[in-house]
Amino acid sequence: MKRTDLAELGEFGLIERIQKKVEYRQPSTVMGIGDDAAVIDSGTSFTLLSTDMLIEGIHFDLAYTPLRHLGYKSVAVNVSDIAAMNGLPTQITIGLGLSNRFSVEAVDEIYEGIYAACENYNVDLVGGDTCSSRSGLIISVTAYGTVDKDRVTYRKGAQDNDVLCTTGDLGAAYMGLQILEREKQVFLENPNMKPELEEHEYLVGRQLRPNGRTDIVHELREKGIVPTSMIDISDGLASEILHLSQHSEKGFTLFVDNLPIDNHTLMAANEFNLSPITPAINGGEDYELLMTIAQKDYDLVKSIPEITPIGFVTQEKNNILVTNSGEKVPLTAQGWKHL
Ligand code: ADP
Ligand code: MG
Repeated sequence: MKRTDLAELGEFGLIERIQKKVEYRQPSTVMGIGDDAAVIDSGTSFTLLSTDMLIEGIHFDLAYTPLRHLGYKSVAVNVSDIAAMNGLPTQITIGLGLSNRFSVEAVDEIYEGIYAACENYNVDLVGGDTCSSRSGLIISVTAYGTVDKDRVTYRKGAQDNDVLCTTGDLGAAYMGLQILEREKQVFLENPNMKPELEEHEYLVGRQLRPNGRTDIVHELREKGIVPTSMIDISDGLASEILHLSQHSEKGFTLFVDNLPIDNHTLMAANEFNLSPITPAINGGEDYELLMTIAQKDYDLVKSIPEITPIGFVTQEKNNILVTNSGEKVPLTAQGWKHL
């Protein structure tokens, strides 16, 4: 029998392959595989359902990841996927793979972070599963959420001339990771050196303890705005724009000049001899929301300071990056490909 390497398909190719063969039997399945969360008709509203897994050595390094932050992050990244459907989380379940390296106190610490996230996002931890693992720590979280039927927002739905917007600032989590990796190397070479993390608190915090933007879901509801399409930025801005483009069957034009980049990110990029545009466009894990807004709603959106316009939607399916000097180049993604 033919044997194909996983790397040949990549993460997205593999998901597409699974998706092609799946059969939906329940009329209540409104959206299955292919968006940030599944959408299930529960009568008066839609229920949202999403799973994300964090694996030691792939998604986090325990050399510099406090367990409390890890617990918090495992919930936040799932909340982010629920927010990306314009919904709010209600319950989570947690699957935990543990090796005998971990103590009861270590598990307590992970759960301290999980409880803090539950409090912050107003969700209930209602179950899970615990087993032993031979390959380090594994945390898999499933989040349930809810959204009004007339407010659900998919990756598809962007229309010509819509305004492309992002929340927050971009590239900080990537620079945070670079700083943590650098300090780890310094520490390995000289264990007496104390890591210099204080001055990089913002960036390191964005990497270790990201936030799902449920605040934006509330703001949009208060202002009476429903984005035409939305996704959360987990793999990097470029990669997520290409997802919106593929699902909406539209093109996107992105202006480098408009990218919201925090001063800390600018300074760190400079320190690492990187153009700050690289982490902003291709860095992952900012967990901001990327959305398209109809022209008619654009004035309302301007009153939300956390939302920045960064581009627009076009009928032609080309995705274009307009550089600082006004040059137009094709937009390509170099997001995280874990496989
Ligand atoms: P996100 O980055 O928003 O979490 P992913 O790229 O992980 O999204 O997943 C895209 C879609 O593929 C989602 O609908 C997700 O539920 C689905 N998916 C991912 N892995 C699998 C799998 N192993 N089996 C079935 N569906 C999957
Ligand atoms: Mg997502």
